[in-house]
Amino acid sequence: MQNQLTCEQVSALLSFYVEDKLSKKLSEYIRIHLESCPSCFEKYLKMKNMLNRFMDIQNQEIDNPYANKQYEDFKHNLSAYIDNELNDFENIKIKKIAISNPLARQDLENIYTFKKLLHSSFEKTKNDFKNDYSKNIICQLRHEDIKDKTVDPFFVLVVSFFAMITCIVAGIISILYF
Ligand SMILES: [Zn+2]
Repeated sequence: MQNQLTCEQVSALLSFYVEDKLSKKLSEYIRIHLESCPSCFEKYLKMKNMLNRFMDIQNQEIDNPYANKQYEDFKHNLSAYIDNELNDFENIKIKKIAISNPLARQDLENIYTFKKLLHSSFEKTKNDFKNDYSKNIICQLRHEDIKDKTVDPFFVLVVSFFAMITCIVAGIISILYF
């Protein structure tokens, strides 16, 4: 069943699916998954709504006084700003525009929410992997534990305890009978 995607795969591809950037075949697989998976479908709706809001705002910009040259610069540098690729001077410029221009502020908030959503689904996938990974390590350690312990300390304790008892009993018997 190679055309059935897992929830992790769908999560990873969802933003591309929402933006219609996937091949027809892949989009179709995702559509099939979404029809049968409520949790992925909910994520899909969230992303779709966010994208629609983003589009609405962009459409409103056409006759908005804030849609000026400064705002164009802001939009141009926005993804570099989010990815921490700007120098200090450019960073401050972006922040100043975001404070003074409501359009820019909205964009920044939207992109952060979007990033957070992507990040949380990514983190979830990563954590699942991490859990599996640590589980494996623990299993391996336990396995090695058993292998390495040629002499169990409890066994040593029991043997010495009985040896001691035997000595004491032997001592008492020898005192009583000889
Ligand atoms: Zn799913």
